[in-house]
Amino acid sequence: MDVLVTGGAGYIGSNLVDRLLEKGYSVCAIDDLSTGNISNLEDALKKPNFHFINGSILDEGIIEPLIEKCRLIYHLAAAVGVKHVMDDPLKAIFTNVSGTEIVLRLAYKYWRKVLLASTSEIYGRCVDIPFDEDNSLRVLGSTKIDRWSYSTSKAIDEHLVFAYSKKGLPVVIIRYFNSYGPRIDEKGYGTVVARFIKQALTGDPITVHGDGKQTRCFTYIDDTVSGTILAAETKGAEGDVYNIGSNHETSIYDLAKLIKDISGSNSEIIFTSYESYYGERFEDTMRRVPSTKKAKDVLSFEAKVDLKTGLTKTIDWCRKNYKL
Ligand code: UDP
Repeated sequence: MDVLVTGGAGYIGSNLVDRLLEKGYSVCAIDDLSTGNISNLEDALKKPNFHFINGSILDEGIIEPLIEKCRLIYHLAAAVGVKHVMDDPLKAIFTNVSGTEIVLRLAYKYWRKVLLASTSEIYGRCVDIPFDEDNSLRVLGSTKIDRWSYSTSKAIDEHLVFAYSKKGLPVVIIRYFNSYGPRIDEKGYGTVVARFIKQALTGDPITVHGDGKQTRCFTYIDDTVSGTILAAETKGAEGDVYNIGSNHETSIYDLAKLIKDISGSNSEIIFTSYESYYGERFEDTMRRVPSTKKAKDVLSFEAKVDLKTGLTKTIDWCRKNYKL
C-alpha cells in the first residue's frame, strides 16, 4: 500500500481517494462511517488497488498494521462541521485530540510521513484579513462557547505535529477554507452550501443566519484535493502549515442568492437567528479569508474553479443524489 487516508469515506477524504487512485497509487481508506458515507466510495471499491477498513482511528489494533504498511498518511479523520461539534463537543474533542495522538505516535514508530488536515477555524474570529499562517493572531471566545472547542482541538493536533517535526518526523499541515462540491453533506462538512442547496431544491425557505453579511471563501473540492496532494508531495513543504483555499470572499447572503439563481429555485430567502439553529451561546466568525501567498510560493497551489462553475457542478450532483 502506498497511501493511507483516514476519514476516507468523508466528503473530502473520498474525493481525495478518487484522485489518488486516478494517479495510480495503491490506497487504503479507514473510516468509522460516523459522518462519512460508504456510498462515497462506490467507484473506489471497484478498483483492485483500493481497500476499505470500516473502523476507528481510536482502535490501535486496527490502525497500527495499516500505518506499518503504508508510506504516507493523509490524516483527515476528525469530528467536523460546526453544528456537529456543537451537538457533541465531548466526542469532537476526544476524536480530534486522541485520534491524532494515536496516528502520530504510530507514524513516529514506523517513521511514516503524515499530512494533517486542519482547518481555517484555527484562526477563530481573527480580524487581520487575510489570515496569515505564521503571523495572524488566533482569536477565540470563552471556553463556555462550545464552538471554540473545535478550533482548540485542532490547534492541539497542530502542536502535536510540530512537536513530532522537531523530532525529525516528516510532517505537513494544511488548513482548509470552506470546501464545497459533490458529496457535501449538511451532517458533516460543508454545512451552509449543503443546506442552501437542499432548501433551494425542495422549495423550502433558504435560511440565512443573522444579517447574512458574514463572509467565507468557498473553495471547490477539485482545488481542495489538488492543494492537499501538493502539500503532501512537494519537497521542501515539510515541517510547515499552509492555507488551502480560494481568496474570493463571498457573503452568506450572496451565496444564498447565487444558489437560488443557479438552481432556478422559487425558494424565498429568509433571515433567521443563529440561536434558532445552533441554540444559545453561539459566536460566529464574521470574515474568513486566507492569505494564499505561502501555498502559492511553496506548493505552487492556487484555487482555480470560480464559485459559479463550482456551484453549478455541486447543484447537479445534489439533484441526482440527495433524497429530496
Ligand atoms: N449558515 C447560514 N444558514 C444555514 C447554515 C449556516 O446562514 O442554514 C451560516 C453560518 O451561520 C455561518 C456560515 O453560514 O455564518 C458558514 O457556516 P458553516 O457551518 O458552513 O461553516 P463555518 O464556515 O462557520 O465553519
